[in-house]
Amino acid sequence: MREQMNIVVVGHVDHGKSTVIGRLLADTGSLPQGKLIQVQATCARNARPFEYAFLLDALKDEQAQGITIDTARCFFKSAKRDYIIIDAPGHIEFLKNMVTGAARAEAALLVIDAKEGVRENSRRHGYLLSMLGIRQLVVLVNKMDLVQFDMSVFDRIRREYSDFLGEIGLHPLGFVPIAARDGVNLIQKENWYEGLTVLDYVDSFTKEAGKEDQPFRFALQDVYKFTEEGDERRIMAGTVETGSIAVNDAVIFLPSGKKSAIKSIESFNKPAGSIASAGQAIGFTLAEELYIRPGEIMCKAGEPPALVGSRLRVHIFWLGKAPMIPGKRYKLKLATARVPVYLTEVRRVLDASDLTAEKGKSELERHDVGECVLETLKPLAFDLSAQIEGTGRFVIVDNYEIAGGGIVLETLSVEPSIVREHVAEREASWERGSVSISAREARSGHKSKFVLLTGPSDEFVRAAGKALEQRLFEAGFSAYYLGVSNMDKGIVLDVADAFDRRVETIRRLGELARIMTDSGTIFITAMPDTDRHELEMLRELVLPQEILTVCVSSGTLGNEGTDLEVTATSPEEASRQTENALRKEEILPEFHI
Ligand code: GDP
Repeated sequence: MREQMNIVVVGHVDHGKSTVIGRLLADTGSLPQGKLIQVQATCARNARPFEYAFLLDALKDEQAQGITIDTARCFFKSAKRDYIIIDAPGHIEFLKNMVTGAARAEAALLVIDAKEGVRENSRRHGYLLSMLGIRQLVVLVNKMDLVQFDMSVFDRIRREYSDFLGEIGLHPLGFVPIAARDGVNLIQKENWYEGLTVLDYVDSFTKEAGKEDQPFRFALQDVYKFTEEGDERRIMAGTVETGSIAVNDAVIFLPSGKKSAIKSIESFNKPAGSIASAGQAIGFTLAEELYIRPGEIMCKAGEPPALVGSRLRVHIFWLGKAPMIPGKRYKLKLATARVPVYLTEVRRVLDASDLTAEKGKSELERHDVGECVLETLKPLAFDLSAQIEGTGRFVIVDNYEIAGGGIVLETLSVEPSIVREHVAEREASWERGSVSISAREARSGHKSKFVLLTGPSDEFVRAAGKALEQRLFEAGFSAYYLGVSNMDKGIVLDVADAFDRRVETIRRLGELARIMTDSGTIFITAMPDTDRHELEMLRELVLPQEILTVCVSSGTLGNEGTDLEVTATSPEEASRQTENALRKEEILPEFHI
């Protein structure tokens, strides 16, 4: 199959976009047989001068009548490959398609009229390309015949426009002086010009790697358990976005960071295969059983992994009737992940209907394209859209409706974090009773602490948590065990969405732990399947009090990022070791009388 590349042609109205496209179609012999003569004849009949732009209209008419298959696209071919010209009927449509991924231009031709020079709109188009992350660009200075092919005119436009493009981070591959109407320098070089022709430039654009050749990404959709009794295996089901993977390959799940290896590849109603690759909806079993929640991205060890972060610089195209505003909680969907997200900063806004840049805006209105900073409540795994498209694109849900789409440009450091800011505010206005925490500690003879037990086995960690409560209580300490499932029927009862429920359980547990520890208690809970990011969130939420996280297990321990790891034959033994750790940390007195 011949290689295909999507390109877009942009520029101010009347600067010659359609003429450039029509010429490229005609001069590369890409038009349907007889089309050129037919359109020329029609013009002659109607005593109208022929225009290359009419070729496009003629093709579109045919397409509208369903004569050719593809409606919104034009093709031309070079010796190297086929080109699809993405039609941009209007800026709103084009931006919407680009930002939501319905269309994707890999490169652009930007047309400027030599006589008119760099206009405000030429700047806006440059800005538009930069916003969409289109990095490959050639600038065509058209209608050079109208300025008698004056080299100084061309040089001036080139200097002025490259300076502007440089400011917005775009570095065109080149500038070509052309006369599209007469086909000058499109395919054949004429005049003093010594650089590449437009077609040679277009052929020099580099093609993105095919999905199969990119690093492996598998978005986990669901985890199924085998139904037979005693069978503990789980099938991780989802779609391979990019790359490929084979049985025995080592894998890492992100954002949790949990590692394992592929044990088997399970297709539905088909015998198990040994390789899975881009585009396949498939299931995997793993060498070690891990608690992995849907929404994680599985990557292959040894390949560049997906990024993990909670502060992202993005471009958003906003479609919602209500504007996107800072401080409001939205839902971000990226691959199979769904996380609460906040708009924390609006850096630049472009009105998509007329491409005017608006300064000083702090929200996104309908049809605005904004360069913004988003912060998720919990770290998320993703890629930059320039690297891997499928995992670099997201939608924003407002009130159960898709209200915006966007692409990830950059991951930013986490300072300042929403959770940290929240805790600072909460603590600044914390109302204290008249009994201080030190007075409580002096009376009870121990410090307060939030003890969270985690580990691979649900039963084991819960039993260890209860045993710890029992031991501490019998030793005369103030200890309380909370079964996390109690929260489902109480504190998080109002959260219906399964994805939200997990983050909310963690968040509300953190708030609860802040209160419980303030009362002087050793507050114990058991959550088998936490990941390091959740532990980090709890650590922040419980401040100024402290958390001790302990991974307890009868067998191998996963690397869950806990403070302590305890391997014990029984939950009782695990609780004894945890108690010892509390004594060592001087939470409990070494000798309690
Ligand atoms: P678009 O609105 O950007 O698609 O512009 P068109 O391709 O429709 O061109 C606008 C007008 O400029 C048409 O009348 C063209 O014939 C004219 N035009 C295009 N290229 C050239 C050129 O190289 N020289 C001159 N003199 N006119 C041109």
